[in-house]
Amino acid sequence: MLNLFDLTKNRLSYPFTRDTLFLYKQVTKQYVDEALLKSVKNLVPIMIKKEFDKDLNQYLDYLNPLRLLLDWFKKDFMKWMNKSSLCPTCGKTMSLRSVQGNSWIVRGVEYHSCFHCNYSLVFPRYGEIENISFNRVGRCSEWSFLFGAILNSLGICTRVVHDFLDHCWNESLIDGQWLHVDSTLEYPISFNNTKYYEKNWNKKYLIVLAFSSNKVMDVTLNYTNMSTAVCERRKKQKLSTISSIQNYYDKL
Ligand SMILES: [Zn+2]
Repeated sequence: MLNLFDLTKNRLSYPFTRDTLFLYKQVTKQYVDEALLKSVKNLVPIMIKKEFDKDLNQYLDYLNPLRLLLDWFKKDFMKWMNKSSLCPTCGKTMSLRSVQGNSWIVRGVEYHSCFHCNYSLVFPRYGEIENISFNRVGRCSEWSFLFGAILNSLGICTRVVHDFLDHCWNESLIDGQWLHVDSTLEYPISFNNTKYYEKNWNKKYLIVLAFSSNKVMDVTLNYTNMSTAVCERRKKQKLSTISSIQNYYDKL
């Protein structure tokens, strides 16, 4: 539930909500949970795991293993869930009813129904990575939460990035640098392609945050060539400072 009182008290404002920050904290806490990491590592085909077991040091060493992992995840493992989907039985557009969940564990439930043939589909939106890995379906949040966990399980330190404009992806620490990885996109555009969204999806950023279990980083400038416009938007919105966001995150 949106808790405005809590945010005002801590001087956080739009676009931040307690629920969003809490969700990212709970998700990334799972990135340091050894049992969870062991479980998601088991999902990865042995052939791909072997590539990650090699001596990876420089940027170029990571390209082949990452390409294999991204291809497997997108093409073999996960399914994409559209907001508006066509009925698999009769092909007509299905109606969608969304019900808000009451915790980060089940963030909400979507009911997709076809009034023509009575087909129906229930899509729970999990924050728990183990559940996402059983379901193997979702949109960018489910994909990035799980893919980030898989990368961590393979020894690549990875965090989750959210643009507060309805998209999220990962960043991995590779050869000393945090690099963009988006498992929902096709390789090679899915890797180290930070300006992709602004250029192709016409994103107008206010803030892009990278979340780890204990840290929030403002990474906006890595994703934009239009920093002046970002600054203007921030002035207009009286955006909270990164230190106040971090303080809030620490207390969650
Ligand atoms: Zn139908």
